Amino acid sequence: MSASLIDGKALAAKVKSQLVESVAQVKAERGFPPGIAVVRVGEDPASKIYVTSKKKTAEELGFGSWEHALPATTTQAELLDWVRRLNADPKVDGILVQLPLPKHIDSNAVLLAIDPAKDVDGFHPCNAGSLFQGRPALAPCTPSGVMRMLEEISFSPAGKKAVVVGRSNIVGRPMAALLINASATVTVCHSKSDVAHEVRQADVVVAAVGISGLIKGEWVKPGSVVIDVGMNRGPDGKLSGDVEFAAAKERAGWITPVPGGVGPMTIAMLMSNTVQAAGPNCGRAKR
Ligand code: NAP
Repeated sequence: MSASLIDGKALAAKVKSQLVESVAQVKAERGFPPGIAVVRVGEDPASKIYVTSKKKTAEELGFGSWEHALPATTTQAELLDWVRRLNADPKVDGILVQLPLPKHIDSNAVLLAIDPAKDVDGFHPCNAGSLFQGRPALAPCTPSGVMRMLEEISFSPAGKKAVVVGRSNIVGRPMAALLINASATVTVCHSKSDVAHEVRQADVVVAAVGISGLIKGEWVKPGSVVIDVGMNRGPDGKLSGDVEFAAAKERAGWITPVPGGVGPMTIAMLMSNTVQAAGPNCGRAKR
């Protein structure tokens, strides 16, 4: 058996095209479109690429879009000032501070300063807490993209055994919360876990570790869904995932490729979160 591929690029395009109508609706209702402001500090090359791509997508969808590129010498107080200004700007529905920040800035303090109603990355403890309590929240984009992929293949997590490998605040933990909220039976693995033992029993595996090929194909339960969040750049510059793709593909029912899997979904879900933040249940009506 060979698994079917979940095409993240095609699904991301679909998600974005479905947002067009909501963007027009927001604009018609209040006179201006959903708006996203991205703040970048310093000259990290990867951050520059990510921010450019987020801004480009936002513009394609007709969002208001602002990039604030601040020098590496920006102090924490100055950055907090920027965040406060954006919190108060009615045209800005979503604020994203691109990580990593320079070492002299306390990232947690900056993320805490973002108005939770504008926290389109879903990293603020208010949103993380609401997500874990099963209440409405702006959820982190990458795990939300994974849930959208499961929906697309009509995989219902209810009653299924889900194994999440990785427990970061950005991917693993919110992924586990979303799967719990969808009534899966969830196991979270980390560096001290017997990953092979857990993966062998999983109906759905989400790998978010950052080690190329850590999840062996032979561990994959036949017919299961394998979602590979990992993005690992090899010495040859090639991207690979956390799953041994070729071997896992022979056993899984569905599998995501790297690249072209979860990666493209992240920006699409960021746009979706921004539209959500512009809506009446999340936006300024509450503040
Ligand atoms: P992270 O913060 O470094 O967390 C990695 C997690 O993996 C940790 O919880 C760690 O466990 C666990 N781990 C490390 N070695 C392990 C092992 N041998 N067995 C089991 N678990 C192990 O990474 P992250 O930010 O979540 O990112 C994970 C991967 O996803 C990276 O490749 C990243 O580039 C990728 N990513 C992709 C997207 C996307 O849009 N596609 C978005 C975000 C991240 P401990 O907690 O015990 O240390």
